[in-house]
Amino acid sequence: MSLTDLKLIAEINDELCDGCRKCLPSCSYKALLLVPSERTPMVDPWSCTGCGTCMTACPHDAISFLAKAS
Ligand code: SF4
Ligand code: SF4
Repeated sequence: MSLTDLKLIAEINDELCDGCRKCLPSCSYKALLLVPSERTPMVDPWSCTGCGTCMTACPHDAISFLAKAS
């Protein structure tokens, strides 16, 4: 695997996230999803482009990025 095979994906830290949902409207790719049984949003790794917009929208620094194989 080379670096070009890697893709950045948003990751939500469950300990820092308070479930405020402010990140949800910031994602133009509909990659942040609410699951009724979960307090925190989920990231759809297929839709996430790694654009970083949600990270700036989060008031609790709960969003970071992981490099995953594309
Ligand atoms: S904006 Fe941050 S704290 Fe609020 S739901 Fe999204 S990830 Fe969690
Ligand atoms: S990094 Fe961009 S595409 Fe991925 S969840 Fe955040 S706002 Fe959406």
